Amino acid sequence: MAVEASKHMSNQRVVVVGAGIVGLSFAFSAAERGAQVTVFERHEAAVGASIRNFGMVWPIGQPAGQLHAIARAARERWGLLASQGACWLSPCGSVHAAHHDDEWAVLQEFAASAPGAGIPCRLLGPEETLQTAPGVKPEGLRGSLHSDSEACVNPRRAMAGLAAWLTTRRGIRIEFGRTVAGFDGGDAVVCGGERCPFDLAVVCGGADIDTIFPGLHASLGLRRCKLQMLKTVAQPGGWRLGPHVASGLTLRHYRSFEGCPSLATLRQRIAATKPELDRLGIHVMASQHDDGGVVLGDSHEYDADVDAFDKPLIDDLILRELREVIAIPDWTIASRWHGVYSKHPSRAWVEVEPIENVKVVTGLGGNGMSLSLGLAEHLMRSWTGAAHATA
Ligand SMILES: Cc1cc2nc3c(=O)[nH]c(=O)nc-3n(C[C@H](O)[C@H](O)[C@H](O)COP(=O)(O)OP(=O)(O)OC[C@H]3O[C@@H](n4cnc5c(N)ncnc54)[C@H](O)[C@@H]3O)c2cc1C
Repeated sequence: MAVEASKHMSNQRVVVVGAGIVGLSFAFSAAERGAQVTVFERHEAAVGASIRNFGMVWPIGQPAGQLHAIARAARERWGLLASQGACWLSPCGSVHAAHHDDEWAVLQEFAASAPGAGIPCRLLGPEETLQTAPGVKPEGLRGSLHSDSEACVNPRRAMAGLAAWLTTRRGIRIEFGRTVAGFDGGDAVVCGGERCPFDLAVVCGGADIDTIFPGLHASLGLRRCKLQMLKTVAQPGGWRLGPHVASGLTLRHYRSFEGCPSLATLRQRIAATKPELDRLGIHVMASQHDDGGVVLGDSHEYDADVDAFDKPLIDDLILRELREVIAIPDWTIASRWHGVYSKHPSRAWVEVEPIENVKVVTGLGGNGMSLSLGLAEHLMRSWTGAAHATA
């Protein structure tokens, strides 16, 4: 049966390629509609961008309107999954801390219009910021923007927990260590020769969709982006960061702040005083996981600059900038890594159907943890024409 014509997915066979957050989100939404879902993941566990991120579920980074609504739906679904034991989640919220006048001006401009546009947030003065976010550095603090909507998951554990939960609680078959080589006449062809028939296939291969569709990534205008990250040891005495902390540099990064007139002044100051941050795409943020370690990042290098080896300079710059805005008890670094994601210069995601009933969904950039669970619902509704699935 053609997927487009169906009102629900009972008994439909859905194949998902990739057990990252995008793939598992589609698997979840399809299973809730009654589909028989098989996920193929070429590694023995998810090892891509979905386990390498901050674990920030970050609606505040999404502009008002459809994207913000998708992010809030995703946040709700993370909450539901956590409440059912799929993963740990902290409803920690977030602060954007301003340590410069231009940053504070951007936050004031944003706070003046955001709540009216459906983005709940409010300004905090320096004292209230420090009470709310004990990790923020007091020196030079002008104030902060506080939002309750954000949450933290521990991506390494969450992806494994989510896969296990979907298997046991939603009957989804997840085949780890199995690579999909291509599609042929209504079958997914798995390396080794097995064929898996499907009514709908969703390819969620992240930055690696070319393994199935050579050349597709570039032809869609997608770019690969590499980010360097660090994580501290568990903080002593159970110390907690509180909400996620983003510095003023981050205001250059997320689309929500693009309409703020003072952003240009902030950008000019960074370009003039710290051009290395623009060159390496550095803005800084921190989140703290259930294991007590604080995740620190990040940088953005594109395409030909996505190399195998990490740059100590980037780690040093990230730490330099973070030490200006947060104060944590123990800066000892326990691990360093990088992740690569796929990003479109102007679109929040890319969805195409290169073969009938084979959808490719990728290109969520730095927003996959924040959007995927909501995006899968959004796209499933448009593909099937069905009413909202109950969670
Ligand atoms: C360092 C870093 C920090 C980030 N921080 C955040 C954050 O805090 N909040 C946020 O919202 N987003 C964040 N992101 C973005 C987010 O992590 C990504 O948008 C998201 O993980 C992309 O998910 P994905 O499922 O598309 O890709 P991936 O997680 O890379 O998964 C793709 C999977 O497909 C599998 N695969 C590919 N081809 C095949 C095949 N042929 N057969 C079988 N399997 C295949 C791969 O093995 C892989 O497991 C961050 C990203 C990075 C790199």
